[in-house]
Amino acid sequence: PMEISLQSATDNFGADTSEQNGIVSEPPPPPPPLAEDKVLVSVEVCLKPSSTARIEDVRSAVEIMLEKRSLSYIDGPVPVPLDDSFLVENVQRICVCDTDEWVENHDILLFWQVKPGVHVFQLSEEGPCEELSGDGQLSSFNEWILPAKEFDGMWESLIYESGLKQRLLRYAASALLFSEKGVDPFLISWNRIILLHGPPGTGKTSLCKALAQKLSIRFSSRYPQCQLVEVNAHSLFSKWFSESGKLVAKLFQKIQEMVEEENNLVFVLIDEVESLAAARKAALSGSEPSDSIRVVNALLTQMDKLKSATNVIILTTSNITAAIDIAFVDRADIKAYVGPPTLQARYEILRSCLQELLRTGILSNSQGLSGRALRKLPFLTHAALANPCICDPSKFLGTMIDTSRRERSEL
Ligand code: ADP
Repeated sequence: PMEISLQSATDNFGADTSEQNGIVSEPPPPPPPLAEDKVLVSVEVCLKPSSTARIEDVRSAVEIMLEKRSLSYIDGPVPVPLDDSFLVENVQRICVCDTDEWVENHDILLFWQVKPGVHVFQLSEEGPCEELSGDGQLSSFNEWILPAKEFDGMWESLIYESGLKQRLLRYAASALLFSEKGVDPFLISWNRIILLHGPPGTGKTSLCKALAQKLSIRFSSRYPQCQLVEVNAHSLFSKWFSESGKLVAKLFQKIQEMVEEENNLVFVLIDEVESLAAARKAALSGSEPSDSIRVVNALLTQMDKLKSATNVIILTTSNITAAIDIAFVDRADIKAYVGPPTLQARYEILRSCLQELLRTGILSNSQGLSGRALRKLPFLTHAALANPCICDPSKFLGTMIDTSRRERSEL
């Protein structure tokens, strides 16, 4: 077996620059910390399911621990110190998040440059609560208590370029802050509606759920309770037009009740909103019952009603950009195109898949070839090809693995 070394594309190479050309220079003394210069970095602390500790106690214990350790900050896990019995008993994991936008050119953030924002949470293990529609079969919406175990790790597993995730997170954070501070919507207008559109399978629905989960963690001190309601727009129009109007009314009545509790943060995810436009168009052309247009209008009216509530964020997705109902596009504040993964993202997705197979022991990590042997491998692979003139990358990789096996067996 060949050595598989999976290096993250964003890993920090050569962060230590103190040794160059064999000359060891003294590291420069840290400048005095200036409070206003500090970078706010999120540190997420997941409690064990068994923990009954108070959030504030865990938060201050983690803050003290971070201060004592004087560590540098980079995205990833921070080990729970074994000599801290309180943390060992209560904390499942500690993770530094979202430093990447500050860490340019493989630089690192040092502890004195950082103000850690510690967010302590416990995952809900309740699972989705499914609501059945009138006929008892067609599920019209799902509901989760956030942060939910099902969505744990989803945010990290989604890979996009050009700061899309950060942009969404910051947008939602600003929207919640404006609401909380009571900014007058007649003077500054902002909606709490996000629309993600793009081809199917680009992770839009997952991104909405992951965003809701992230925000439920980040805003847990302001909103100790958080729910996600998922509605599939398509299912509202599938068969039971006469039922759909009632379904929408029932759904929004429920959401309204959740929103009335001011410590609740509510996310409403409406998937496949293009079906609203399709239903409206079909109704206008007379090919579908006019009930469907009533459903679309009911949905839009209900959404407008929700606008006055400050503790709700509406997340929507569409697979067909052109077909989204114009009334809908107008309502969304942030419209982000989510496209197919770029080369780097594709590499990163496949790398994380292999990493998981290694972690679970399904693939075994073995060693054996020297750097010199590895450098020679592509040449030997090329020589081993039956038809070296025409060769696609997958064939080449397959042959490369065979060649590495042969080389190892001949050691
Ligand atoms: P959409 O709503 O756009 O059709 P989904 O959210 O259903 O897409 O995505 C399906 C799955 O594809 C996701 O759960 C995820 O595992 C994977 N996926 C899609 N895009 C990405 C991406 N950019 N990075 C990582 N995984 C992705």
